[in-house]
Amino acid sequence: MKQPGKYFVGDQVRMKKPHPCGGTDWEILRVGMDFRLKCLTCGRIILIPRIKFEKGLKKVISSVFTEYSAEV
Ligand SMILES: [Zn+2]
Repeated sequence: MKQPGKYFVGDQVRMKKPHPCGGTDWEILRVGMDFRLKCLTCGRIILIPRIKFEKGLKKVISSVFTEYSAEV
C-alpha cells in the first residue's frame, strides 16, 4: 500500500493547476523542502515548495515506491 504524504524521485503526479504549456502531469526529480518537477508535456523543470506541491497535487499517476515493493 502507498503511504499518503510520501513522494519519491521518479513518481509521476498530476497537478490541479496546469502549466502554461497546458500540461498537468509532472515527474518528480527531487524531494525535500522544495520539490523539483519536470513537466511531462514540454520538459520544463520547475522548483516548487513542498507545501505548494501538496496543496496543488491532484493525484499520483505512477509511484516508483509500489514498483519497488512489488519486486521485494
Ligand atoms: Zn509544461
